[in-house]
Amino acid sequence: MKICIIGAGYVGLVTGACFAEIGHEVLCVDNNAAKIALLRKGKIPIYEPGLEELVKKNQDCGSLRFSESVEEGVGFAKVIFIAVSTPSKADGSADLSAVENVARLVAQTMTEYKLIVDKSTVPVKTGEKVADTIGRCCKKGVPFDVASNPEFLREGSAIQDTMFPDRIIFGVSSKKAEEILREIYAPIYTPTQIPILVTNIKSAEIIKHASNSFLAMKISFANALSRICDLSGADIQEVVLGMGLDKRIGTQFLNAGIGYGGSCFPKDVSAFIHISKTLGYDFDLLRCVEKVNADQGTHFYKKIEETFWVLKGKKIAIWGLAFKPNTDDMRHAPIVEIIRRLKEEGSIIVAYDPQAMPNAKVLIPDIQYAEDPYTMLSGCDGLIVATEWEIFVKADLDQMKAKLAQPIVVDGRNIFDPWTMKEKGFVYVSVGRPKMHSGERYIYE
Ligand code: NAD
Repeated sequence: MKICIIGAGYVGLVTGACFAEIGHEVLCVDNNAAKIALLRKGKIPIYEPGLEELVKKNQDCGSLRFSESVEEGVGFAKVIFIAVSTPSKADGSADLSAVENVARLVAQTMTEYKLIVDKSTVPVKTGEKVADTIGRCCKKGVPFDVASNPEFLREGSAIQDTMFPDRIIFGVSSKKAEEILREIYAPIYTPTQIPILVTNIKSAEIIKHASNSFLAMKISFANALSRICDLSGADIQEVVLGMGLDKRIGTQFLNAGIGYGGSCFPKDVSAFIHISKTLGYDFDLLRCVEKVNADQGTHFYKKIEETFWVLKGKKIAIWGLAFKPNTDDMRHAPIVEIIRRLKEEGSIIVAYDPQAMPNAKVLIPDIQYAEDPYTMLSGCDGLIVATEWEIFVKADLDQMKAKLAQPIVVDGRNIFDPWTMKEKGFVYVSVGRPKMHSGERYIYE
């Protein structure tokens, strides 16, 4: 099938490469000329494991191409996926201007039947608006369908998630649209028997917002529990494991930390709250989810303050900048606010992240960036762990201890075992677990 994907970002590029890999002819369109120029040269503007190889392979055999022109994309393809950004507006609602813009451009160019599929995360009833816009702007009598095919990939495992998703949702209003989507996805779902759920367009739109909001709620629940653990002396890791082993609850996304971030959860939760309010329902449960998340960052910062006491003039190392491991995405990374506050107090920051430093340098230009995670520790008064990259999880504790001027570790991701940290002589502060100090005796010892 000839497919055009508009928006060649984390979702559009991965989807395009995977569709090409399963046998389709794909043209990815983006209005960022620099991005398209880079992609045409075989360079990948984002970090996503395995993506560079997949793009190159399909580009080399001609099944994946790139263009700046929506017109070219619409002329080429029968199916047009919209995968543009839908960021938050100041009031928390989703900014749908890119979606509208693309819908208008597609409509103006269409001369024969097209299926326009929304893959961007959008509030319920967006499909209706897209259909209205296309109907208004296209030449009279040109047939089209609009569908919703929400995307559930996770950055860091995006290719795996696209090729082996938990489910595929087709939000459609015609049999023809369903059949086309089934044909596109057949190479993915046929061998694996991945469930396909065919719904109406509005349900599909809500499924995406509801799924992300539910996952954010699980994280906020774990974070709220971590506060009770901090206050009572319980251990959050033990508590969430004990809960998560119940199959009805599950252990995934039940991790306490420094709060959720990234390009999806913050904006999707706030857009879901906003659209619910517009429809006449106050989703106050989700407002609590947001509040717990904001409080968690503040609570973690207080731990840093308490541990280091005076922050002015302290040299503090930071491991991890991206909002989660295996990505270079810095959008809404919780560490950004923590660094801002530390700098305001006069701390000297030296940071390292395996992939996110180029993006971080744009957001936080005035800190030091290190070449490797160990040399940077020399002369530092302590270390903050902000992202659970594997190289940090498997860190050489002896080397860390030898290099740090003060053996202080404030761990926002609970990646180290408190007992081991104590044995090694660290002052170790984590989230929802008792503070471990080499000089203290732990109550359960
Ligand atoms: P992104 O910012 O990485 O990519 C969006 C791309 O769209 C950019 O390259 C931008 O240049 C392009 N674009 C914007 N307006 C355009 C226009 N008018 N014409 C052509 N191109 C245009 O965003 P993303 O992370 O890929 O997310 C895209 C959508 O998918 C969002 O709605 C997001 O919520 C959703 N989503 C994202 C993820 C994720 O993990 N990133 C997962 C699931 C769903």
